[in-house]
Amino acid sequence: MKNDYPVIECDVLVIGGGSAGAMAAIRAKEMDPDQTVVVFEKGDIKYSGCIARGMDALNIVAVPGLSTPELYIEANSMACEGIMDEPVNYRMAQRSWEMLRKLESWDVCFPTDEKGEYKLVGIPHGIYNVAISKDGYRTQNLEWDFSATQDRMQKIEMQTIVMVSEEKIQQIERAKQAQEEFNEAREKIGQGDFDGAIEILKKMIMDNPDDANAHYLLGISYQRKKQFPEAIVEFEKTAKMSPSFSGVYHQLGLIYQEQQEWIKALEFYAKAIELEPKSVESFYNRGLILFEQNRVEESLVEFEKALEIKPEDPEFLEMAGRCYIHRADFKKAIEYLEKAKLNSSDQTKIEFLDDLVSKLREQIKK
Ligand SMILES: Cc1cc2nc3c(=O)[nH]c(=O)nc-3n(C[C@H](O)[C@H](O)[C@H](O)COP(=O)(O)OP(=O)(O)OC[C@H]3O[C@@H](n4cnc5c(N)ncnc54)[C@H](O)[C@@H]3O)c2cc1C
Repeated sequence: MKNDYPVIECDVLVIGGGSAGAMAAIRAKEMDPDQTVVVFEKGDIKYSGCIARGMDALNIVAVPGLSTPELYIEANSMACEGIMDEPVNYRMAQRSWEMLRKLESWDVCFPTDEKGEYKLVGIPHGIYNVAISKDGYRTQNLEWDFSATQDRMQKIEMQTIVMVSEEKIQQIERAKQAQEEFNEAREKIGQGDFDGAIEILKKMIMDNPDDANAHYLLGISYQRKKQFPEAIVEFEKTAKMSPSFSGVYHQLGLIYQEQQEWIKALEFYAKAIELEPKSVESFYNRGLILFEQNRVEESLVEFEKALEIKPEDPEFLEMAGRCYIHRADFKKAIEYLEKAKLNSSDQTKIEFLDDLVSKLREQIKK
């Protein structure tokens, strides 16, 4: 068959004479100088391909002592947001230094400074204002100070940036606000401004109906105002939300004790003790109720338990002493009452106890 095309025979045919094609052809010749290598380039090989458009540096070179292929992979992976063919890129970075030296051996010039070190391109020195944003997260505006010039390229250790979601921030802000309001309400209760406290606490409950602390303080405020039904409602809600909180049962005990509903009061104090075995006031109040009802032996048990926790308490000592008077165990009664006297700072009480002890001593003499 006759045709007008020239026919070239070769061992290796490279199609495209850009940087990759040209380097492949050179490599083929290096491997076997006797083989015929042909490069097919559709354009003018001097001007075609990317290289002619302005390539003036080797973008990726892991210069020994300054960087490593591993660092390149790490940085490039971040720059490409993970879209990177890692094995290929790693191999390229691994061979990059060798390639630079080879190009230099061909008289390609890579500029160096007066010390003979390569001029490296990095980000320009300066102070950067960086905004880090992500959908649903609070944008962080940071200032990165890279103004100090460096002798050589260095890896910069950046602080881990923790992004906080908008929802989480709102939660934190709500919790902070609730804490401030809670403190304010508590302060008002301390000052006797129960209406002021109730106003704040009601607002807190409107914002967060499940705020057990707010319900508890609201209960306390009503209790102090002697609005017992309202207080009971709030304490019951608190108990439902925080079933292991002993304090609320003690408060319910107080309310029922004040209303002389002895059975309920005793039950609530017992519940407070069950949840917190060191509920010393609950023991004491149970003792008072039982004493009031002439159940002296039972009340003594409660006072003794209170004394196990607070052995020096003058009120507990006095009540235990009174129980022993009922038992006609005056010696023991005197022992407790003397101790109560010693630990009391109330002058009237001391005089009263003194008088009581003297009378008991007289009784013993008789
Ligand atoms: C403006 C610019 C600046 C750059 N600066 C840098 C730099 O500073 N540092 C750096 O490392 N990189 C730089 N790059 C990137 C780099 O130049 C390229 O990645 C690299 O040159 C690509 O080489 P290549 O051989 O793979 O492809 P190409 O350079 O695109 O070569 C492909 C060749 O194949 C030819 N061809 C296509 N189809 C056929 C066909 N059917 N038959 C025959 N021939 C065909 C084309 O004409 C072309 O000559 C730059 C790129 C551009 C565009």
